[in-house]
Amino acid sequence: MTQPLFLDDPYRRDAPAVVKTLTDEGGIILDRSVFYPTGGGQPGDSGWLNWDGQHMPVATAIRGQGDDIILVPSEAMALPPLGAHVTQALDWDRRHRHMRLHTALHLLTAVIPYPVTGGQISVSQGRIDFDMPDMTQDRDAITTALNAFVSQDAKITDGWITGAELDAHPHLVRTMAVQPPRGATQIRLVRIGDPDSPIDVQPCGGTHVARTGEIGALRLGRIEKQGRQSRRIHLHLES
Ligand SMILES: [Zn+2]
Repeated sequence: MTQPLFLDDPYRRDAPAVVKTLTDEGGIILDRSVFYPTGGGQPGDSGWLNWDGQHMPVATAIRGQGDDIILVPSEAMALPPLGAHVTQALDWDRRHRHMRLHTALHLLTAVIPYPVTGGQISVSQGRIDFDMPDMTQDRDAITTALNAFVSQDAKITDGWITGAELDAHPHLVRTMAVQPPRGATQIRLVRIGDPDSPIDVQPCGGTHVARTGEIGALRLGRIEKQGRQSRRIHLHLES
């Protein structure tokens, strides 16, 4: 398995690692990874691997078997040998935008209290699909509420709960798209704001900023009607 370093420290930009497996498809599996693998509507990280004077661009990361994380080189070139000691480094600007947008989508689900059926982010915008037959809030109200949460500069923290505790509080699960890591007994819970009266609490395996102020100003994009029951709401970073 690959140890997911981004879960405990999403601000870690580089780390040493050892090459554990080279896949038949030309991917690389390390013993630990700063690269978040594609999942939960968040793109896999890009960056670089360095070893022995070699420099290899990484296009993305994906999930493999079990807890493996596979790094995908961006061009065909010699891979580091099995057992090699490498240094991995993220394209931090891209990842940090993902962290800002991912956390912003949590805020959007706090502002719009409807079930979530999907979500996706890129470097400049995110969107969420809500199971919501009618819009009950206008654009200005949603935008104002979002930016008020950003201005609060609320702290984001995480912890772990048991599957039984989560099953006892099914309302915590807002989305089927962002599956939290669910080990044998523990599930990761992400909280925004004061734990006694949080803005948002949900199980999540994504990467988040430390405080909402780091997201910066948000602008609501298109609101699309997707059939009778569903609304797709787009959100943009102002800078
Ligand atoms: Zn999240």
